Formats: sequence, structure tokens, C-alpha cells
Amino acid sequence: MPIFQPELETLPRPELERLQGERLRERFGVELEALAEQPFRMKSDLRDAYPFGLLQVPLEECVRIHASSGTRGKATIVAYTRADLAAWADCCARALAAAGAGPGTIVHNAYGYGLFTGGLGLHYGAERLGCTVVPVSGGNTPRQAQLLEDLGAEILCCTPSYALAIADHVPDPGRLELRAGLFGAEPWTEGLREAIESALGLAALDIYGLSEVMGPGVSAECAEARDGAHVNEDHFLVEVVDPQSGEPLPDGEAGELVCTTLTKEALPLLRYRTGDLASLTREPCACGRTFARMSRVLGRTDDMLIIRGVNVFPSEIERALLATPELEPHYQLVVERPGHLDELTVQVEGAADADAVRRRLHSVLGLTARVEVVPAGHVPRSEGKALRVVDRRST
Ligand SMILES: [Zn+2]
Repeated sequence: MPIFQPELETLPRPELERLQGERLRERFGVELEALAEQPFRMKSDLRDAYPFGLLQVPLEECVRIHASSGTRGKATIVAYTRADLAAWADCCARALAAAGAGPGTIVHNAYGYGLFTGGLGLHYGAERLGCTVVPVSGGNTPRQAQLLEDLGAEILCCTPSYALAIADHVPDPGRLELRAGLFGAEPWTEGLREAIESALGLAALDIYGLSEVMGPGVSAECAEARDGAHVNEDHFLVEVVDPQSGEPLPDGEAGELVCTTLTKEALPLLRYRTGDLASLTREPCACGRTFARMSRVLGRTDDMLIIRGVNVFPSEIERALLATPELEPHYQLVVERPGHLDELTVQVEGAADADAVRRRLHSVLGLTARVEVVPAGHVPRSEGKALRVVDRRST
């Protein structure tokens, strides 16, 4: 499959590391060898500097503003110069090419347009590659399915949970032209990948990013390997650190992803703690790209649930649920504290025996939960990021 910028994406690693070293020195005056001694940047730094305190260029040189959703507090504002937007479009064009898109490919973009980076990020990447973009944004799910069929889109871009919601309205995936999907903006599992692939008849690929660092396209999977997302290492230097101690971890070990932007002008960040848990590998890939690959996001440092002293990530519950063939990949976790003890209710669609599911969660995760198996359509569908966890403890 053609690579969008092979001169960069297949750079031999010693040359790539030399380029990273140069850019790090230029941007931050820091030597590569001394990176691990630098302090971290956190989301709270961006919040404290709200809205424009961390900008490194005059505001009038910025041509675009985006913001994080602010679901965990005040939104963070990010800004882009013209060059930042060009680099972002390149990164998203690389991701689309890695999924098999090229000039003329019809791309159905159901990520939300607006302050959220998903919609416009993929939109300009698709145009950069020469694709024909259908800028549907989220919402009106039956129409999404109809447009997919009528316009013959080959690539679908949206959150994995929204892909499933669209699939509810696709009676026969054989009538669609879809070949691949770029799914991201929320953690998901291999089980969900299989469910989406069979429901929509496409190859489901992971795309990763966050607004503070750029938006979607920090990394993306290739169709050849579908085994970890290639990080655009000419633009981003990534590390994995122990979330508690902050010490760097070796390749293959899961920890918190830390990201340094190497080319950004408006909002460069040195050692930004993403809050996303993942691991890295620099093993060669079948596709020929030399960029390191990151695993799926295994969870977020701040969405770990502690239920009666047991630490558990929603993605672990998802994995356990999807291992039961009678269950559907639609679920919601409700956490309450009616008395002194936390109570977790797992609501999941399907036809399995609730007691068997409860025992399975207990044996696999050590988790005590109430399980409600409900008929298809009873769990609320998302039109963007899924609301997997409803935490009623703080209200
Ligand atoms: Zn690859």
C-alpha cells in the first residue's frame, strides 16, 4: 500500500533519531540525552494558563482554535499556526494512506466537527491526500447509514462506539463499499475491533491523538500489520513512564504515554503527560514504516475505577464482557455509593444469563458487580464519545 511521505515515514532509525535530536534542540534547547531530566507538563498547566497563556506566538499568527471537551473540568484551549495545520493535515493524510485511502477515495467523516479536533483534523487530512470527503459530522445515525450506502464511501472515520451505533442501522454490510475505518478518541479493545469488523465488513484501524498535542493523527495503525499505531516520530517524540514514579520504562512495558512536540509553533509542549496508558515497540513492521508503534490505549490514568478496593479499568470489563459470545458490545457501567460501599452495576445487551456474567467478572477481575443483561437497544447509543461509565458517587 502506498506510503504518503515515504522519505520521512521510512527513515532509517539512526537518521530519524538525529532529526528528532536536532528539532528538540531547536525548539526547547534540550539535548536528546538530557530529555529524561526535564520536568513534565500536565493538563493542569494548560488549565492554569487558560485560555492563551502558553501560546509561544502572538495570537494573530494563529489561524485556528480547538478545545478539549472539558468533561473532567474546565476545557483546555489549543491554537494552531498555518504551519501547525499543515503538519497536522500531513499526519492525518499519512493515517488515511496507511488505511488504504488515496486520491479519489470517498471518506465518510462522522467525527464531530467543531471545537473537538476529530472532525476537522481528519477532514483536512483527507483533502490533503486528495480524497473526496463527506463531512457528515456526528448525529442523525439512520442518515449516516443511508449516506454510506448511497455515496459508496470506502473509508469511515468516527469513534469505535459510534461505528457500532451506525452498524445498528446497516441491515446488510454487503451493500456498502467500506474497506477500512479509522477509529479513535476513546479506548477500545480487540473484542470491539472484531465486533465492528463483522458488523460493517471493513478493517477497523486504531488512530490516536489528543487535542493538547495536536488532535487525531499523532499515531495510526497500518492496514498491513494492524498491530499498533505508528507514531509520527518526526513530529512527536514519545516516551512511556511509570505513572507513579515518572521514571522512563523500556519498550514493551505499559505505562503513561509522554509526548514532546517537535515541530509545533503555537503550542509546543515538552514532555506532556497524556494520561493515556500504552506501551511502545520499535520492532520493524511489515508495512516498511520505521516509526515506533504504540499499543492500544489500555486505559487512562484518571479513569481507573476503584470498586471496593479493586482497581479496574473500563476496558478490562469490556474485554471480559466481549469474551462471552451471547453478549453484544453495548454496555454501560454505573457506579453508586448508596451507603458506605461502592456498588457497580454493569448493564450489557445480549441474551446471556446475568448470574453467569457476574461470576465471570468476579473470577476474571476479582470484581463484585450487579449485572443486568438487557435486550438490544436498551443501552444508550453515543453520537461521539461513548459514555461508558456513569459515576454517581460524587453527586
Ligand atoms: Zn506498519
